[in-house]
Amino acid sequence: MKSSDTLRNRVFSAVKPKRLLDMATKLVGVQSRTGEAKGVLDCFADLLKAEGFNVERPEADYPQAPAVAVRWAGKKPGKTLQFNGHLDTVHLPFVPPRVEGDLLRGSGSSDMKAGTAAAAEGLLALRDADALDSGGILLTAHDLHETPWGDGRQLDALIRAGYVGDAVLIPEYLNEVLPVIGRGGITWKVSIQRPGAPIHEVMRPAEPNVIAAGAELVRRLLALDKDLAVNRDPMAGPESLFIGQIHSGEIFNQYPQICRLEGTRRWLPGTKRADVERQFRAVLDEVAQATGTTITAELCLMRDAFLLDQKNPFVPIFQEAYQSLSDRPLPIGAKPFCDDCNTFWSLANVPGITHGPNAGGAHTLNEWVSISDLSRVAKLYALMALEFC
Ligand SMILES: [Zn+2]
Repeated sequence: MKSSDTLRNRVFSAVKPKRLLDMATKLVGVQSRTGEAKGVLDCFADLLKAEGFNVERPEADYPQAPAVAVRWAGKKPGKTLQFNGHLDTVHLPFVPPRVEGDLLRGSGSSDMKAGTAAAAEGLLALRDADALDSGGILLTAHDLHETPWGDGRQLDALIRAGYVGDAVLIPEYLNEVLPVIGRGGITWKVSIQRPGAPIHEVMRPAEPNVIAAGAELVRRLLALDKDLAVNRDPMAGPESLFIGQIHSGEIFNQYPQICRLEGTRRWLPGTKRADVERQFRAVLDEVAQATGTTITAELCLMRDAFLLDQKNPFVPIFQEAYQSLSDRPLPIGAKPFCDDCNTFWSLANVPGITHGPNAGGAHTLNEWVSISDLSRVAKLYALMALEFC
C-alpha cells in the first residue's frame, strides 16, 4: 500500500460514527421522490456548508433541483476520485427515519442516502486528518436517478459540465461482489391500434383484431428473446427481451381498439443501443404490416451497459483497500441492476466501482441499512483516496 499504517490509522480514527448517522438520518428525513429531490439536496448542501466546504449547486439540466458538488483538493496536484450518490427515492409512500439497534430504517436508507452520507463522512475524515497528500475528491449528489420517473439526465449533464473524476465510487447497496460487468437496458411500451372506436362484437367492422396482432407480436418477441439468449456472459447472463404486461379490451363482447404491451430489453457491453432499438422497431413494423394495425412504441433508456477493465489499476487498488478492512478478497461478479456507474462508463469512459453498506429493502417500504457498516464504507472511501489520488 502507498499510505503508511500511521496515516491510515489517523484517517480511520477521524471517521465519526455519530456524525455519519446524524447526516444519514437527516437525509432520510427529507421526502425526495424522484424529480422532487430539491429539499434533500438543499439539506445535504447545508450540512456540507456547515462543515466549511465550498458547495456548488450546478443546475445540470434540472433547475427544479440543482445538484450538489464539492471539490476538495489535497496538498499537491494528482488524480481526482469522485464519490457520487443520487438522493432521489422511488415513488412509494414516505417512511420517516427510525433507528432500531444497528439498523437505520426509512425511505432511501438503503437506496442510497445513507451510503451517500458514508461517502461524505469519508471526505470529512480525510479533511479532519489532513491526510490527502495529492489529488482530490469530487463529491456529487443529484436527482432523477430512479426510472421511470427520472431519466438520468441530471447526471449526464453533470458529467458533460466537467463534474467528473478520474475514477468513481458509488455507494449503492451492493457489496457482495466487485462488479465488473452489467447489462444495459431499456423499458418499452407498445400500443397496437385499429382505426375504429370500441364497439359490440356483433357489429364489428372489417378491421384488424388487435388482440390477434398482440398475440403475433408476443410470438415474435419471444422468438427474438430466444435468439438473443445466444449472446450470454458467464457472469451478467444473457441478452433478453422480456414481456411483463399485456392488456386489451374492456368486457367480453366488445371489439377492442387497442392492445398494449410493456417490457424490457437488456443487452451486454459491445451491443449498441441504437442497434437494439432498430431491431425492436423492425419487429413492430413487420407485425404492423402483416396485421394491418398501427403500432407505436415508447422506448425509455434505463442505462447503457457497463464494463470495468479488470486490468485498470483502480481495480487492484480497490481490492487491496477492501481486503485491508475486511480480511478477505471481494469476488469478481456482475451488477444485477443498472446504476450510475453505467453512465460514467458509457458517457465518459471513467472506471467506476459500485460498493456500499450492508443494506436491503430497496424499492420497498422496508428499507434498512446497517449503521456499523456505514463506518466501514466511510473508511474504505477515505482509504481509496489515499491510495488512488
Ligand atoms: Zn440507487
